[in-house]
Formats: sequence, structure tokens, C-alpha cells
Amino acid sequence: MSKELDKRLSDLYWKKGLSSIRIAHMLKVSKPTILNWMKKFNIPRRKCARRAIVITKIDLKYLYINKQLSTHQITKLKGCSQSYIRKLLKNYNINTRKIYEGQAIRFESEETKVKMIKASLKRWSDLDYQKKMSLIRGGTGIPYENTKYPLAFYKIRDYILKRDNYTCQNCGTKIQLSIHHIDYNKNHNKENNLITLCYACNTRANFDKKYYKSYYKEVLLNV
Ligand SMILES: [Zn+2]
Repeated sequence: MSKELDKRLSDLYWKKGLSSIRIAHMLKVSKPTILNWMKKFNIPRRKCARRAIVITKIDLKYLYINKQLSTHQITKLKGCSQSYIRKLLKNYNINTRKIYEGQAIRFESEETKVKMIKASLKRWSDLDYQKKMSLIRGGTGIPYENTKYPLAFYKIRDYILKRDNYTCQNCGTKIQLSIHHIDYNKNHNKENNLITLCYACNTRANFDKKYYKSYYKEVLLNV
């Protein structure tokens, strides 16, 4: 019996090249049992697959420094783990980049950088784009919405936006709108407690609460 097992194990492990965990599954025993048996039968183990991937210093330097690839990209290219790449970088004394340096490289010039920021600002000032992104990210279609509100709030929110003509009732902007609870109680979702504010005005209202509470009550009376 043990001789059969010996042969079977070494066939599976060395001829078929299966891992000890797969053999454990096949024979319906645990991995430590397989390792124990292999030890008992003097079946040698393969060296760790990760160590078999040889990346020379020149190779790594070329990819990381000359080609400016990230450790993640090198990982994909070489089929090894990211921690292994980091370990090699350390062992080879290659200076690693900081994350922001990696990002900076993506911009070709200062001009491109400014262009990209401007384009992004333009995109995000569009209400339709904000709605789209909110939906894409699993939101409810109202940009930057805090989702920890009771159901009653969601039922009335569209009405409030419409009532306020999709405009911040403090500064008049039509971008980055949110609904503000005048008495700061998220569970008080009556019409006379809700007002449309932009993100900036809403944030400001969180500082001097006493003042803004009476201020927005007043504003609402004039809507
Ligand atoms: Zn505003």
C-alpha cells in the first residue's frame, strides 16, 4: 500500500507536475498530510515557482528606470508577485520611485498638465456628466450624494431640486448640487426643511450651524 502511494505521489508531483495542494484535493486529504507523506517517502519538493523566475539587475533596471514601468506593470510582464519585484529592487539597490513621481511622469509637459486639469474641470462642471458618473459609480444619479439618508429623503429630493429650479439657493450656481437639511436633522425630510445648495455652500453651512439654520429658514420663505 505504502509503495503504491509512494509511486502515485511522485508520479503526480514530478511527472504530472501537480502542486501539493491539488494532489491533496485529489486524494481528499489535507496539504500537510501530502507534505508529510512526501517527506516519509523521500520525495523531493520542487523549488518555489517564484524563485524560478529570474530577473537580472540589468533587466529590472531597464524596465523600471529606462522604460519607467511601474512595479505592477513589471509584475504582469514577468508573471511574478509585486512583493517579489520590490524585494529585487531593494536587493539590487535600485532607488524606488515615490507614487507621486510615478504620476508626474505621465504628464508630458506643464502645458499638457494644465490642459488636462482644465478639461477635467470642464467635464465635472457639467450636470449631466456628474449624474452619469454618479450612476456609473453605483450612486443614485445625484452627484456627490451621501447615501446614508432615509428613504423619505430620496422620495422628496427630486421635487426639492425642481422647486428650487436646479439652482443653489445661496449663490445661484447650477453645478454640484445637493439638498441641505436646514435643521441638520437627516430624518426631518419635510418640504420646509429642505433646500437646494451647491456643494460649497452646503459645506460652509456645516460650520456656523446656528447662524445658517435661521439664515436658510429665511431664504426658504422667499423661494
Ligand atoms: Zn452655492
